[in-house]
Amino acid sequence: KATSIKVRPVEDITVKGFFPPNYWQLLQQVAQYYQTPLIKAIRTALPPGLLRRSQRRIRLVTNAIPDGAEEFLQPKAQRILQLLRQSATGDYTWQYLQRQIKGGSRGLQDLIKRGWVESYLEPPTPPRPKLRPAITLVIDWVELDFIDITTRQREVLEILRRRGGEMWVTDLLQTCNTSSSLLKTLEKKGCVVIGDREILRTEQGISTIADQPLSLTEHQQQALDVILGLSGFHQLLLHGVTGSGKTEVYLQAIAPIIDQGKSALVLVPEIGLTPQLTDRFRARFGEVVFVYHSGLSEGERYDTWRNMIQGTPQVVIGTRSAIFAPLPNLGIIVLDEEHDSSFKQDQPQPCYHARTVAAWRAELENCPLILGSATPALETWQHHRHNHNPSIHYLSLPERVLSRPQPPVEVVDMRRELKQGNRSIFSRSLQLAIASLRDNNQQGILFIHRRGHSTFVSCRSCGYVMECPRCDVSLSYHHIHAEAIPYLRCHYCNHSQSYPQRCPQCDSPYFKHFGSGTQRVAQELTRLFPELRFIRFDSDTTRTKNAHRILLTQFANREADLLVGTQMLTKGLDLDSVGLVGIVSADGLLHLSDYRASERAFQTLLQVAGRAGRGNDPGQVILQTYTPEHPVVEAVRNHAYQSFVETELQHRSELNYPPSGGLILLRLRGYDAIEVEQTAHRIASELSSELLPGTCELLGPAPAPIMRVANQYRWQILLKFLPGQTTPTPSLAALAKKCPPSVRFSIDVDPLSF
Ligand code: ADP
Ligand code: ZN
Ligand code: ZN
Repeated sequence: KATSIKVRPVEDITVKGFFPPNYWQLLQQVAQYYQTPLIKAIRTALPPGLLRRSQRRIRLVTNAIPDGAEEFLQPKAQRILQLLRQSATGDYTWQYLQRQIKGGSRGLQDLIKRGWVESYLEPPTPPRPKLRPAITLVIDWVELDFIDITTRQREVLEILRRRGGEMWVTDLLQTCNTSSSLLKTLEKKGCVVIGDREILRTEQGISTIADQPLSLTEHQQQALDVILGLSGFHQLLLHGVTGSGKTEVYLQAIAPIIDQGKSALVLVPEIGLTPQLTDRFRARFGEVVFVYHSGLSEGERYDTWRNMIQGTPQVVIGTRSAIFAPLPNLGIIVLDEEHDSSFKQDQPQPCYHARTVAAWRAELENCPLILGSATPALETWQHHRHNHNPSIHYLSLPERVLSRPQPPVEVVDMRRELKQGNRSIFSRSLQLAIASLRDNNQQGILFIHRRGHSTFVSCRSCGYVMECPRCDVSLSYHHIHAEAIPYLRCHYCNHSQSYPQRCPQCDSPYFKHFGSGTQRVAQELTRLFPELRFIRFDSDTTRTKNAHRILLTQFANREADLLVGTQMLTKGLDLDSVGLVGIVSADGLLHLSDYRASERAFQTLLQVAGRAGRGNDPGQVILQTYTPEHPVVEAVRNHAYQSFVETELQHRSELNYPPSGGLILLRLRGYDAIEVEQTAHRIASELSSELLPGTCELLGPAPAPIMRVANQYRWQILLKFLPGQTTPTPSLAALAKKCPPSVRFSIDVDPLSF
């Protein structure tokens, strides 16, 4: 069956009138730098669903398969039949089936040839505007006297007029307590028009009390003066310790932009932080504030997108992908907590970093870019401190507002605790501090590095460890609250299963979970402090929409004494009443195995510590560790950002790691372990013959740190470019064509972890 395919340049469809000026160029730059096809950059930028591919689905044609015939099928075909029979609708996507049978399509082809199953393309359903009937007054008020209208009808029209001449039909009916037939009559008489109007599904602002700009501290004022004194493209690092008032600087830098009729884009790392920040922006700028992030529904993102493209002045707050917000008159870009690794996309391609894209975008729009952080990324520090370019600025807020001191950090050596007979996960110091929270009329935060209850579940009799059936990782134990049933979850592929009472291998009843996650800490708290009210804040308890906001509001309203949580807590939580921050164990963070581990640990710990003492009391930080002599611990204790960073930069440059040299990671994955490995070796040897000696080093191929995820085997090749050699000599994208179709190849430029 030959079908004629019409090829049209993508510019024809998308560019003309659809994207704002410069936007197209931005996407091309993204595609080029991150070595991906342009269409993938477009897909990333657009709201989800607009460019969705049609899905290939497989359905059962007949259940009447001749007796015995099935036995002659190959096992994968048998499995497909079995799965389809279990499906409630009799069908599945091909993607899903392929995952279940671990790849390969011969079984399916056989079934299709026999006519037992068929495959079909399900067309995509793009998002649509949401419509609602509205009623509009169309008659001139004076003309009413010439129309025969009852008093009641006049009353209704009067209400409509007072509401500005246009209302939703349902609202009007409710307000006047009238019937729709009356409205129909009015329409017939030519007084009103009833018709569908679009209702925008942008996230509704939760009404906040309007606030006024604060009078700035001296450092804030200096920073703001620099920002407002510039015009055109500039890059500024706003390096302010936690609690120094960076947000107030953003707000006052944005205000004149809105007054000029332009828009502002504010990127934040995670949605857990957005409610509080969004509220502050809404209090200042009111209804022109919109949010854009992946937590919104497809319809909400679609509508927010179209609302942005209108070009009315607005402040858009969003996560990573919001760097592609199609604001035509962009006047300023702000990246808050710019060091945060969630600004980097791991997959799918393009594996962009929002900070990198933000710099290109600010340049294209000829507007300033402000990067804010208490612990700037090494790249950012290097770029803004060791640079004499007149368009690059370093602004510092070295003190907390209102001369509040930084909280003292007490480091507790957990080895000594154990030696002195304390087996609890809480040191005596931390126990004392928790116990006195209420007396001091304060709240506390406990930070745990892991999510879930523990890293793994194992048998104390035979040592068997519960592993994910599809990945090379152990399953984590989860127990949300006392009444809930415990379960196991894989943090790589999200597989979950029930928690066995006995060991699957030896049937021993001594099957237990280990480690200290939020749940373990919660149990210990209940045991030691039965009176204490605490809230768990982690990926389990914040799964539902708005859960972040609800939990944080409860805590802010002092419905709990303690907030117990993971990484999410580190971001921007700003509460006056928090006097204590306890870091249950710093060790999990300190001993990660990649070249960025120290930087990340330092940033995280300093951020967590910064949650303490935002009120009048300086507060206290208790950091528990088994390696108190670790340089990162030492740096956190002294709040010594600069010396830490300069030492770390030195290390990096000795080894040619970023920001000295550049990295590109090539990833290969597929269901066939041998095929993936062989392909990786072939690609590596081809590449190494093309690379110019002295510019780039090829490391690998090596299995990925977690070699198998969701039944796919993963290998990787690391290219390490010497300083100044950032452009790769061979075109890496072409390598994809050298892989067999069953092996997926992807390129990660400037990878953060591998
Ligand atoms: P950062 O983002 O640097 O950690 P924030 O912007 O959250 O700091 O500010 C910390 C607190 O200080 C906030 O409650 C904020 O309202 C307050 N604040 C900021 N600037 C001022 C100022 N000039 N005067 C008084 N309070 C301020
Ligand atoms: Zn066992
Ligand atoms: Zn898994």
